[in-house]
Amino acid sequence: MDYHYDHILIRYGELSLKGKNRQNFIHKLLENMKKALKPFPALEFDAGYDRMYVYLHGEDCDEVCSVISKVFGISSFSPAIKVKPELDEILEAVKSSIDLEHPGTFKIQARRHDKMFPHKSDELNRLAATVILKNSDWKVDVHNPDVTILIEVRQDAVYIMAKKLPGAGGFPVGVGGRAMVLLSGGIDSPVASYLMMKKGVHIECVHFAAPPYTSAQARDKVLDLARLIAPYQGDIVVHVVPFTTLQLSIYQNAPESYAITLMRRMMMRIAQGLAEKRHCLAIATGESVGQVASQTLESVFVINHVVSMPILRPVVCMDKNEIIAIARQIGTYETSIQPFEDCCTIFTPKSPVTKPKLEKCLEYEKRWDWQPMVQDCIDQAESIRLSFKETPAEKQEEEDLF
Ligand code: ATP
Ligand code: MG
Repeated sequence: MDYHYDHILIRYGELSLKGKNRQNFIHKLLENMKKALKPFPALEFDAGYDRMYVYLHGEDCDEVCSVISKVFGISSFSPAIKVKPELDEILEAVKSSIDLEHPGTFKIQARRHDKMFPHKSDELNRLAATVILKNSDWKVDVHNPDVTILIEVRQDAVYIMAKKLPGAGGFPVGVGGRAMVLLSGGIDSPVASYLMMKKGVHIECVHFAAPPYTSAQARDKVLDLARLIAPYQGDIVVHVVPFTTLQLSIYQNAPESYAITLMRRMMMRIAQGLAEKRHCLAIATGESVGQVASQTLESVFVINHVVSMPILRPVVCMDKNEIIAIARQIGTYETSIQPFEDCCTIFTPKSPVTKPKLEKCLEYEKRWDWQPMVQDCIDQAESIRLSFKETPAEKQEEEDLF
């Protein structure tokens, strides 16, 4: 009989979870897996207490694995062959779990979860190794093998696996509530978004655009970034805020040195308004202390002051190199470094204040009636739902849907 990989075995992350939290974790993970794997409607799922199994029905195993590798809450996973708990079936499956024609080094690692199984782990290891040695030029290397073949003996079935692939870690998106992330076209905020999702928080994004000072390309770049990180939670809603009128009013009414500070205070007010509207409990940004003038603690203090909602800053203490390493890993870096103007960069004052004073902010903000403009920004935000799309034609279709 010719065996092939007909299962994927999923190992949960954060195994310390117990009781109800664990049930929520598993329930959410199952929901997210089904959502992410929608393009493969014939797959079946079985979520147990310490493992989840995905049953393939002819789907391409590598394609399914590549989707699974982006689902948070998984520590590792393995394509598996499932057989009955009978020795000859197990040995046949071990034989077909690797390519016998292309030898390397291997080791067998059997584990009996069912202690009633008549063959002990050591014995299984020996028998399985013998089958491979007899039928191929593969060699045993117990210290540094090219391939480790796992044999997991359960009561009702035995799973044979030759690959342990790393999962995305973290918690299933959604177990940690919802947050509104300020998404610019830069390097930091897509990384902050990814880290929020990794901790199980479902995100929506807000982007401030100032047309015609910012171009359609700048906006498209942000939507592209959102598409790139969308697979981690299925899809992402981005609220594009028309910021021009409010931004210009800042420049007309306040000294240039305070423009960036006041602009950020306005951004926070709008973000909080949208967050409340969308049932989010927190705001998140890609701010990193000390990185630029607007990111001193004094500045963070006066900007934070306008909202009552918690502002989370996942990259606040990271070095730029560390942030860039994550951006490369998640594939956003190349898009982030495309040179399109951001609404923050067009109005950049020659000498922005690095230690803004709260009294000054309050004094300047008394000079004009900005509240209705903030409300307009919240009301007029354009909300776009994005998911990962390969081609421009697919993107077009996605936007037409709204
Ligand atoms: P990034 O790489 O994320 O743009 P940055 O190092 O360029 O960060 P700033 O431009 O000072 O830093 O922005 C700090 C944070 O403010 C960003 O990480 C983002 O969360 C938010 N932000 C800045 N500009 C915008 C914008 N146009 N729309 C939405 N959020 C923004
Ligand atoms: Mg920026």
